[in-house]
Formats: sequence, C-alpha cells, structure tokens
Amino acid sequence: MLKAYKFRIYPNEEQRVYLAKTFGCTRFIYNKMLADRIKSYEENKDLAIRTMKYPTPAQYKNEFQWLKEVDSLALANAQMNLDKAYKNFFRDKSFGFPKFKKKISTNTYTTNNQNGTVYIESSHIKLPKLKSMIKIKQHRQFEGLIKSCTVSQVPSGKYYISILVDCENIELPKTDKKVGVDLGIKEFAITSDGEVFKNPKHLKKSEKRLAKLQKDLSRKEKGSNNRRKARIKVAKLYEKIANQRRNMLHKVSTQLINKNQVIVIEDLKVSNLIKNHKLAKSIADVSWSEFRIMLEYKAKWYGREIIIAPSNYASSQLCSNCGNQSSQTKDLSCRTYICPVCGMIMDRDINASKNLQKLAM
Ligand SMILES: [Zn+2]
Repeated sequence: MLKAYKFRIYPNEEQRVYLAKTFGCTRFIYNKMLADRIKSYEENKDLAIRTMKYPTPAQYKNEFQWLKEVDSLALANAQMNLDKAYKNFFRDKSFGFPKFKKKISTNTYTTNNQNGTVYIESSHIKLPKLKSMIKIKQHRQFEGLIKSCTVSQVPSGKYYISILVDCENIELPKTDKKVGVDLGIKEFAITSDGEVFKNPKHLKKSEKRLAKLQKDLSRKEKGSNNRRKARIKVAKLYEKIANQRRNMLHKVSTQLINKNQVIVIEDLKVSNLIKNHKLAKSIADVSWSEFRIMLEYKAKWYGREIIIAPSNYASSQLCSNCGNQSSQTKDLSCRTYICPVCGMIMDRDINASKNLQKLAM
C-alpha cells in the first residue's frame, strides 16, 4: 500500500541553489523533449507517432553539459511524465496535447530511492546527488520503504517534500455501522446519525482577509517592489487557507472512516452546481471532490467501503420515512423537509443523509 506524506523542508543557501538548478533542468528537459517530439511529428506525420523512438535525457547531456550537475532521476522522471501526458492524449483527446511548462508554479521535481539513497536521519533528509542533508520538519512518523519523493517550492518561497512510502496495510476492526453523509453549503456535512460537521470559522475569516489582500494587490503598480511583496502575502495566505481546509477534510474523513464500515455520499456534479453564482464560492471552499478522494483512499487503507449515490438519486427530494418523492424541496433555502404523504417533518439535510444511508442497506 502506497501512502504519501508531505513535510516542509528548510534548505540552506547552498541547497537552495541546487534545488533551483534541478527545478530548472527538469523543466528544461521536459520542454526540450516536447519541442523535439513536436518537430519530429511535423517531419514524419504519416509515421505512427506512438511507435517512434525518442531520445532519453542522457542523450541530451552532451549538448547541454550542465544537465550533468543535477539528479539524473529527476530528468528521467520528467521524461516519464511527458510519456504519460502523451499516452493520455492519444488514448483520450479530452486530456489535451501536453503543454510546455512555464516558470511559475512548476518548481518541482521527483526523484527515486534506489538502494537507500533517500533516507531521514535526525530531522534531516538525504536526497540523491546532494551531498548535504536538508532539514525536514517531520510532524508525522511513518513506517515502510521510501519509494520516491517530490520536492517542490510554492509561490510564497517555502519548500515541501512529498514522500511516497510503501507501508503495510492496517485494517480497522469491522463494524456494522453504515452512514449516509449529506454534503452541504451551510454546514460542511451532516450524517444520517444527525452529526453535524461545520465549516470552521477561522477558514471564513482567512477568506475575507484573502479578498482584501487580492484587492490590495490589484491596486499596486505592475512590476513594482510593492506589487511583488503583495503577491507574496497573497500566496502565503492562500497556502494557509489550503492547509486549514485540508486539515478539516482530514479530520472529518478520518472520523467517518473510524466509526463506519460503509459510507454513502452523493455524486456531486460540481460543474452543474457551479453555474449558480452564489453557491460557486462555497463549493470551491468546501472542496467536496478533495473530500471524496480522501474518503476513497482511506477506505482502501483501512478496509472500509465508500458508496457513491447515482447522480439521478434524488436524496433531498425523497421522504426517508415513506419514500414519497416531492419536487418542492428543490428550493435550497427551505431548511425543513415536510412530507405531504406521511406528514414527517425533518431537517432537510438529515433527511437527505438518511436517504443516502439506505443505499448501504
Ligand atoms: Zn413521507
């Protein structure tokens, strides 16, 4: 079972220079290989493009000597990423043709652990090619074999490392509990047990501040030092919000997985909902899709089951008591479900989650 752990790292001056070089070379080789493939496609159009042999990063090293200064695994992984993007495109055109990597936001590279070249020792991590070890803040321990790691620098300037670990799978003891979870706008989630997970207040506060900072930024003169400073401020707060939100999602998903054997959630078509402007921001905030991904991988880790309700399942319109379907409840402002057939009165979201829970039976 592969698990990813993300930690902050604190490279010193010399290490920062090396990382910048590696980010640059990785981006360069990716773009160079892509450009060469496009060129060869234009020259040999009638040849089956997928069967063509392309040069490897090593073959570029004679022409571009400085590529030798960085981790060759980083370059090999850049090629693998390009191959993957190519394969995706030829399999399914909706992926789009691979794009060139632009400078900002692509400060990242992946390396592999080959025979213990990557390890952590007394709060420092050893990476291939780099002689000194980088300081790491390891807030969680893990057991298992390190497979690969991805080093990245975010726009605020901080560095992170995501470590992929092959660890043994530990299943939780089985339980009979099955739960339906209704994801909402006002509250993040409500379960069929009546448990409410609220959107944290500090998140709302940070978002208000972000709107203000973004306004400040837009007023600063282009290319000015003040604009640069304002941009870093925005990037830092943006990261903070992403972290706060992720913490919340981790907490809720772990709690649900610990307690329940089967969890049923809706198949939310975010693209449909996002057309409604008022809802759009909140939907982005609560990150339902990120939550679903977390639930699914944690279920795999711990031996639980996630059921996604079919998208035509009208969980908010059905009466969880008698099964009657009423279309009046499409109005989201109405918080109470009143059944015109059996007379049941219930909180709209709890009713919806109870209907979801039925899919687990
Ligand atoms: Zn009813």
